[in-house]
Amino acid sequence: MTGRVILVGAGPGDPDLLTLRGARALSEADVVVFDRLAAPALLELAPASAERIYAGKEPGRAPMSQEAISAVLVERALLGRTVVRLKGGDPFVFGRGGEELLACVEAGVPVDVVPGVSSAFAAPAAAGIPVTHRDVARSVAVVTASSAHGDATDLSLVATATDTLVLLMAAGRLEETCATLVAAGRPADTPAAIVQWATTDDQRSVSGTLSSLPAYARGASVGPPATLVVGDVVRVAEAVATAVDPANAPSIPTTTARAAGPGSRGRAASA
Ligand code: SAH
Repeated sequence: MTGRVILVGAGPGDPDLLTLRGARALSEADVVVFDRLAAPALLELAPASAERIYAGKEPGRAPMSQEAISAVLVERALLGRTVVRLKGGDPFVFGRGGEELLACVEAGVPVDVVPGVSSAFAAPAAAGIPVTHRDVARSVAVVTASSAHGDATDLSLVATATDTLVLLMAAGRLEETCATLVAAGRPADTPAAIVQWATTDDQRSVSGTLSSLPAYARGASVGPPATLVVGDVVRVAEAVATAVDPANAPSIPTTTARAAGPGSRGRAASA
């Protein structure tokens, strides 16, 4: 009998941000195929007997190709297994989940999707930045800063289209990204923040403006995974920080580390 594939969004980092449905899928898994960005603690929710397949990049080893990942999902499911494909954030937000869905459908394998909390919204939220805010921002766009799937032209088209911009895969190209947005008409003094390892114990954020942020981020050694937020909503987080601790009043650059609360478990593996 054919098994099935469940594409599960693992959430942005903190294992607590997995959905209950995702947890149930993991508990029923015979096979778990997981990524670098899925919190390692989530693998413990699968039975000890479940086969665990790492599909991400490992130092010194080539990552599995998308074709190889899809093939493994289909092959295990055709053997009758329940296969959980655990993906960082939401499977369909820059996660190539659509390709895996299509591969399963084309092979006649039953497939379900369990949405996840995407870092596109969780990273700003974890840094205290509401992506919409009354009288400040009524629209938000989520785009990739990477050139792999879109070039600078795409970025120019959205640069001034929405009040808030959220850019994923932002760490490696921060300088070019900010410059492209300014060249496309977004004022250089637009507030901007970058949030690294959001919702984990390693969370850090740096804020400034489109012109000042790249240097601040470089100075703070911000690296992937990181999400860039552009727009006046960034000031809301700065206002909150000031209200909580007036001693922290407008001292741009603002570098904020997440306070590790009792519930915070975060990430066990390194980038
Ligand atoms: N499907 C994922 C996104 C995959 S693309 C989702 O919905 O979240 C990978 C990008 O997501 C990273 O380059 C980074 O921009 C963002 N990202 C993932 N985890 C993050 C985290 N914990 N903190 C900040 N950004 C993160």
